[in-house]
Amino acid sequence: MTGFTAPTDDILFSLRHVTGATAVAAWDDSLSEDILTHFAQFAEGVLAPLNGIGDAQGAQLVGGHVHMPDGFGDAYAQLAEAGWQGLQAPERFGGMAQSPLVAAGVSEIFSGANHAMQMVCGLVPGAIETLLNFGTPHQQDCWIPRLASGEVLSTMCLTEAGAGSDLSAIRCRAERDGDHWRLNGEKIFISGGDQDMSEGILHLVLARSGAVEDGLKGLSLFLCPAGSGVTVTRIEDKLGLHASPTCQLSFNGADAELIGAEGDGLKAMFTVMNHARLDVALQGVAHAARAAQIAEAYARDRVQGRRKDGSAARLSDHADVKRMLQEQASLAIGARAMCHLAYVEMEKNERPDLVSFLTPLCKVFCSEAGIRSADLGIQVLGGYGYLNEYQLSQVWRDARITSIYEGANGIHERSLATRGLKGPGSDQFADMITELGGKSECVMTELSEWQTWRDELRASDAPEKDAHAFAQSTAKLYFRACWKKCSLAAGKHPDPERIISLASFVLNS
Ligand SMILES: Cc1cc2nc3c(=O)[nH]c(=O)nc-3n(C[C@H](O)[C@H](O)[C@H](O)COP(=O)(O)OP(=O)(O)OC[C@H]3O[C@@H](n4cnc5c(N)ncnc54)[C@H](O)[C@@H]3O)c2cc1C
Repeated sequence: MTGFTAPTDDILFSLRHVTGATAVAAWDDSLSEDILTHFAQFAEGVLAPLNGIGDAQGAQLVGGHVHMPDGFGDAYAQLAEAGWQGLQAPERFGGMAQSPLVAAGVSEIFSGANHAMQMVCGLVPGAIETLLNFGTPHQQDCWIPRLASGEVLSTMCLTEAGAGSDLSAIRCRAERDGDHWRLNGEKIFISGGDQDMSEGILHLVLARSGAVEDGLKGLSLFLCPAGSGVTVTRIEDKLGLHASPTCQLSFNGADAELIGAEGDGLKAMFTVMNHARLDVALQGVAHAARAAQIAEAYARDRVQGRRKDGSAARLSDHADVKRMLQEQASLAIGARAMCHLAYVEMEKNERPDLVSFLTPLCKVFCSEAGIRSADLGIQVLGGYGYLNEYQLSQVWRDARITSIYEGANGIHERSLATRGLKGPGSDQFADMITELGGKSECVMTELSEWQTWRDELRASDAPEKDAHAFAQSTAKLYFRACWKKCSLAAGKHPDPERIISLASFVLNS
């Protein structure tokens, strides 16, 4: 098995030289490098060795409580002790107040090392941001320090048996009880709905405070601490992410506090969800990079077949294997740049419509890139790829959920082709592609064809039927433009020839 090595050089290349993170006010170059290097060591030494153990043991529900696999509690204690849970939280709440750009690098490394554990810890930054945007000063003082210190982990409770993609069907009821509220109902598929790593759990619950006929407008967001009135009724047996407990939760008069305004639940929840969507895109990048790493190492060593001169060949000598390895590596680097650009735009806060346009594109493309790279990796390893021994099958199983949760990809594609074309976001996207592509002929020709299609869809009565093809084509244009920018910046990478060769693979195919 190939041990996990964090792709720190590639992450720094992307942030510094491809996506312009250094121009963002909050970016501190040497500190960011130190943070990423430090976290990479922790991920390689502590988190990654637990990945296979977590897959084999899984989380278990015993006597109504979830037990995490061996070693997870100890690793979490180290994570919290080092302050990683508060990386982005403001200093006044005990956090490190670091930029979301460096946090994006940390999150990718975390997912590459141990996606299941990242799932349980990774909703905290979104919860903190929601509290900062919508919480009362009392709610902020009560919860943010505990989330930042790692004392408490958070969940995001949306899904119900009858409400998956369609949240307007949520039935979990919220009723006023003096200053507080009582929640009654069932939530399913809640990641980290219970675990034994943190002292407490804060559930962020979307529940119905208005009438069923009010649809989405009748939903409000609530803070509900685990404990009284919340029970875990089952955990799911699933394809991958065995160490991430996917819980069914029953709320029986659970004590809750409203966060934000009544009826504005979806608006408040979108803060967590937007954060989580880009985080899922980074999970895709992490899987693409990890699968490429395993396949490259194997193909370099495995002797099979003959070279033209009759000497023994390695797998990596064969043109078809090279093609697969190049596709894997190019997916990881290009998809990462797509995400980082979205984060840079978010931080600059000058083109919010562009961020809304890029977020579903990143979610769709990067999640599929992770799955595709894992699938190619299995093919590169042949029969050994299908075994558990090299961990590629785990990468594929863990990656597979990313195109389903945080909004199934089909839903994001539909919203891109409908709502996404209404505001100025798609025009700003065209400007961004021009900037990235350095006005190169290949990118400009594709952009002009894309703009014609976009205009047709804007005028269409039924854009939904072309939504998949349009979103895929838009994402491919974005990916290729990012690669054009990578090729222009190749000289700044520690291995420029690799970047030039991969850029040529992408841009000439
Ligand atoms: C491992 C795991 C972890 C999860 N973690 C969480 C969590 O922490 N919190 C939480 O709240 N939820 C969580 N979920 C739930 C997840 O977000 C949902 O599974 C997802 O939103 C899809 O809902 P669904 O499964 O009901 O599928 P459905 O909504 O039934 O959709 C099934 C398919 O139909 C398509 N579809 C549905 N409606 C439409 C439409 N109107 N137009 C076109 N296509 C449509 C979808 O794109 C999808 O491909 C998790 C799920 C899993 C498996």
